[in-house]
Amino acid sequence: MNTILPPIKLVSPKDELSQNGLAQGSWQQELQQLIRRPSELAELLDIKLEELCPEANEQFELRVTRHFAALMKKADLQDPLLLQVMPALAETLEHSAYSKEPLEETEQFNPLPGVIHKYKGRLLLMASNQCAINCRYCFRRHFPYQDHHLGRKQWLDAINYIAQDSSLSEVILSGGDPLSQSDKQLSWLTEQLAQIPHIKRLRVHSRLPVVLPQRVCSELLSWMNSKHLQTSLVLHINHPQEISPQLKQACLTLKDAGVRLYNQSVLLKAINDDVDTLARLSEALYECYIQPYYLHQLDKVQGAAHFQVDDRHAQELYHQLRAELPGYLVPLLTQEIPGQPAKTPII
Ligand code: SF4
Repeated sequence: MNTILPPIKLVSPKDELSQNGLAQGSWQQELQQLIRRPSELAELLDIKLEELCPEANEQFELRVTRHFAALMKKADLQDPLLLQVMPALAETLEHSAYSKEPLEETEQFNPLPGVIHKYKGRLLLMASNQCAINCRYCFRRHFPYQDHHLGRKQWLDAINYIAQDSSLSEVILSGGDPLSQSDKQLSWLTEQLAQIPHIKRLRVHSRLPVVLPQRVCSELLSWMNSKHLQTSLVLHINHPQEISPQLKQACLTLKDAGVRLYNQSVLLKAINDDVDTLARLSEALYECYIQPYYLHQLDKVQGAAHFQVDDRHAQELYHQLRAELPGYLVPLLTQEIPGQPAKTPII
């Protein structure tokens, strides 16, 4: 394998901006201006500051882009986008069936820092430990990202690990959010993976184009439009209100660049646990050339129990959705069960 290595230093969006200036593009600028203070969000949305729980914010800090906040309705505490990002008192209640690491990934499937090798034929690389938004239900909300920060040596170790295992055909970039990493690093990584003969596919899991559509820039398109790898982008959209005209345009651009688009949602109580919302979501995704892919039952992470939809209701919704929509618009209802060789359909 002919490996040409540029100087590697994984950088936070902040570092990159300060090193390279604004010429890097406006998405970095937007990442500099995330809403992190509860008082700012309360003021922007015309809600009382007391509604945002300080203890919950200490456990998992508020983080949201201005684009995503602009899609929320003002003065509406039940807004489905606000509920996904608002630190809530319910998060501070302990539930015995919930844990800090519901998928038990780091104990069993973590051969190297930043590498999760769990399923046959594919491997997950944590390309960034940052997100542009902190989703309150995130199964990695307690994840020790500080132990999975990849520097030059760790990147090379991960690439060598992939090169030595010919049973692998797909690499999945995850995080954090992999698209919070710079295009320069992602481009280098893609080039390295493209030189490994058994790697055929690159899949990127990201919420960034949804919360910051400017992220779909020409630099991103140039590495995603790889000659040697089939590339797909799995977005994470839970509610049709998240689909803005800017996101629709970004998806069209990605589709024209040959990137296949899929969506996975998490079934969330009081946010999308009704058939009308789920049907509208599938229709809106399809208009953006995004294939509905998975509807996940919540991973039982401590702090997210109030989002849980019981399996019976989830199954009813799934069957109603099948009666409502053509089959290709119905995402598969699944759950991730530790130790299983794949996601488990709930039917
Ligand atoms: S990893 Fe995904 S779900 Fe979790 S906080 Fe980041 S963007 Fe949200």
